[in-house]
This record gives sequence, structure tokens and C-alpha cells, in this order.
Amino acid sequence: MAFDPKSSFSFLIFLLLSIQPLIFCLTTDASPPPTVCIVGSGIGGSSVAHFLRHYFHPIPSQPNPPNIIIFERRSVVGGRMATVSIGGETWAGALFSDPLVSRFWLKGQPPPPRFVECALQSTVDSFLKYYESPETRPVFETVDEMLKWAGLYNLTTRTLQDELVHIKISPLMIDELVTVITRINYGQSVSISGLAGAVSLAGSGGGLWAIEGGNYQMAAGLIKSSNVSLHLNEEIESISYLGEYYELNSTKGNSYSCDVAVVATPLDEVSIQLTPSVSIPARKLQHTHATFVRGILNPAYFGLRTVGVIPELVGTLEDPDIPFSSISILKQHDENDTTYKVFSREPMTDALLDTIFSARLETVRINWGAYPHYEAPEVFAPFILDGQHLYYVNTFENAASTMETSAVAAENVARLILSRYFSEAHPHSSNLKSKSPDAHTLHTDL
Ligand SMILES: Cc1cc2nc3c(=O)[nH]c(=O)nc-3n(C[C@H](O)[C@H](O)[C@H](O)COP(=O)(O)OP(=O)(O)OC[C@H]3O[C@@H](n4cnc5c(N)ncnc54)[C@H](O)[C@@H]3O)c2cc1C
Repeated sequence: MAFDPKSSFSFLIFLLLSIQPLIFCLTTDASPPPTVCIVGSGIGGSSVAHFLRHYFHPIPSQPNPPNIIIFERRSVVGGRMATVSIGGETWAGALFSDPLVSRFWLKGQPPPPRFVECALQSTVDSFLKYYESPETRPVFETVDEMLKWAGLYNLTTRTLQDELVHIKISPLMIDELVTVITRINYGQSVSISGLAGAVSLAGSGGGLWAIEGGNYQMAAGLIKSSNVSLHLNEEIESISYLGEYYELNSTKGNSYSCDVAVVATPLDEVSIQLTPSVSIPARKLQHTHATFVRGILNPAYFGLRTVGVIPELVGTLEDPDIPFSSISILKQHDENDTTYKVFSREPMTDALLDTIFSARLETVRINWGAYPHYEAPEVFAPFILDGQHLYYVNTFENAASTMETSAVAAENVARLILSRYFSEAHPHSSNLKSKSPDAHTLHTDL
């Protein structure tokens, strides 16, 4: 057949006219991508963003991945994975275990030598169930369900002391070894729950890692690869449910509309006003004072003659006369110049430090609202705070507070959001008008 440009042109016009209603239909019916707002850029908040991206699958009513905004009140990401600089070097505070390394493919740095081999392997094995394929792993609405599924719940109902007595560990071993470990890891005695205790003991058995340059890079990497709009130096002071969406207000006077809101920080000491108010079980945080000293220990304080015989790690018993939980060497520069890390429940005054150290060149102090003050039986706030789309990652910290448990809780929260909001069953709200400033201009590159 001969090619007739005129009739081809008419056919094209005809085609465009006939499909125009369809094009119109597609553009008006497609909802704008929903916005997920995350408060906190620690391992919890950054992992929620990562897993939302990782697990998102388009569905007809929600073809586009969500916009994700992370708010961080500080000028850096990472939260409690902060580093400290002393003696011209940067130190990562916390250590994490092999599964997190293999899961996130990190370039790790082995930790200082282990000092105790004892670990509760069966508890670790139960915890590893959270690393099984999401295809076969349920999504949990409560921490209780999540712990029961892995067989870990009962350990939160009794103290570590009760658990150890039950398995016939001697009182001497409990007082002089286990207590020393729980004081180092959680600044608390063996009255913490059996699960927090097991995590603490497992963490003393080696196979632990830290990232060169600081663990905060884990959060930075997750945020960077998750196409997130990151608002540093922006503290959220209120989250209000306004019918179909949440309004987040910041101390900068900005207001943001979010379809889903995620609290990825412990609510115990931050003042975020929730409207309507939400009632969650009261929880105290255990404060750990981390004091970094560059100098040299005073051997006389320890009843010793020379500094060289003081162990690399000094642990302590539960004795009100002992003013610190642990002192450990971070780096020995030369025989009269060492960088130490001191953990204590109370601040270390200069006068006290001057009795423990014979010389101090540099001292850095950090007061951490470090982890929950554990009290078995533990009672957990729900992951879904309001029955709608307000989520709380750090409820899981009553089970155990580690970078790894935060990441595992965050993964569950991300899956909860996807299953509850991004599923065909959910009637999506559309045409939400954002009152936020232009997200693009606020995006901060890491
Ligand atoms: C001294 C110490 C030693 C530790 N040792 C270990 C260890 O060896 N191994 C281990 O695995 N874990 C350890 N941990 C615990 C571990 O660091 C934490 O469990 C984990 O980092 C918690 O991460 P997260 O993201 O849940 O919370 P966070 O890291 O606390 O992150 C919350 C973030 O939210 C931000 N934020 C809070 N409120 C607002 C607001 N209103 N608006 C905006 N931003 C807000 C905070 O600034 C913070 O950056 C240790 C903790 C401490 C303090």
C-alpha cells in the first residue's frame, strides 16, 4: 500500500483525540507519591528509609515510591553512633556483631581483644531468626509478638539474675564476672532483663566490629543510598494527626504534611508533642557518662606500684564506693601517654579524675541517655502508636538496645508501613497539599 502522508496525519490526530481522555484519566487519577516523615537519623531512622526503598513494589493504586524525609535535630547523622575525637584521633563508641556486617557489607575494623568467651548461644541463634528471608518471616504489630515468634519473649519477663540462678550459675560468678559485663555494656546490674543480659553477654564474646572512622557512617550510607530528603539541624516539636495526614512542626517554625510519620528516637527524654496524645508505658533511660582521658592512670589508686600492671580493661563490681563502671585503653601512644575511656553512672568530676589519673592532657565528657533502665518484666509500647500511621521504632529498646536491634526493629517498621499503607487494601488519601518548604532546596547531601 502506498504511503499517504495526509491520511497518516489524520490517523495520528484521530489516535491522539481518542486516547486523550485516557491520558487525562491517567494524570488526574494517579495519586501523588505519599510522604513518609522520619524523626531521627540514627541507625533506626536510616534503616527505616533503607528498607522502605528496598522492599517497595509498585501497585496500581500506588505506582510511585514514597517521598522520604528524615529530620535530625543535630548537625550530623548517626545519633548514638557518634564518634569522639581525642588525642588527634576519632573513636567509634559502639561495636556490632557479624550479622550486621554481612548484611550491610561493611568495611569493618576488628574490635579490641575480647575479655570473656561466655555467650548465650541459643539466644543469639533465636535473634538470628530476624535475619531469615522476609518471604517467610511475619510482619509484627507489637514487640511482644515479635519476641514471642523468635522465642525471646520469656527472657524479658525475668531478671538476668533469676535466669542465671535458674541455670545454676554460682553467685560468685554472677557477682564477679557477669555483673562486670552488664555494668560495662548497660551501666546496670544483673537486675536487667534476661534478654538484655544475654545480649550484653553475647556482646562480650568477640566477633564484634566497628567501622573505621566511626559507625555513624552506616547511617550516612543508608540515607545517601535511599534517596532521602535530609533536614539536618531541624528538631520536630510536634506531630498532629489531622484526619488524613500528620502535620509535623519543627522548632524552626516549618510545618510538614506527612502521610506516614515514624518516630525513630526514644520518646522518654525528648519533648515531641503528640496530638491526639498517646499513652505509652513509662520508661526511664539509663545515663552513661563517657569520659575520654588522654593521660596516664595513677597506679596507687588501684593499689598497684606501676602503671604497666593495670589491665587494659578495668571492670567493676556493684559497690556504691566504686565511682566508675569501667576504664579501658583506647590507644597507648607511649608508656606515659595513653587514651582511656571511662564509663560511669555519675559525672566524673575533675577532682575525682585527678585521683584516678596521675596526669591528664585532655578530657572529653559525654552524658548519654544511653539505653533503657531495664526492669523485668518489660512492658512494651506498640510499634503503631495511634492505630493509624504513626510508628515507633524505639519501643524495641526495652528488649535490648543495640545498633543491631534498632536496625531489626526498623526493618519490621518499614515492612509494617508497606503492608499497612502501600497495599491495595489501604484507601490512599490523595492530593495532600504539602505546606513544607521546597523539599529540593532543603535536601542535604551527605
Ligand atoms: C555509650 C554507649 C555505648 C553503646 N555501645 C554499644 C555497642 O557497643 N554496641 C551496640 O550495638 N550498641 C551500643 N550502644 C547502643 C546503640 O548506640 C543504640 O542502641 C543505637 O545507636 C540506637 O540507634 P537509634 O537510631 O535507635 O537511636 P539514636 O541513635 O538515639 O537516634 C535518634 C536520633 O534522633 C534524633 N532526634 C531526637 N529527637 C529529635 C527530634 N525531636 N527531632 C529531630 N531529631 C531528633 C537524635 O539527635 C538522634 O540522632 C551504645 C550506646 C551508648 C550511648
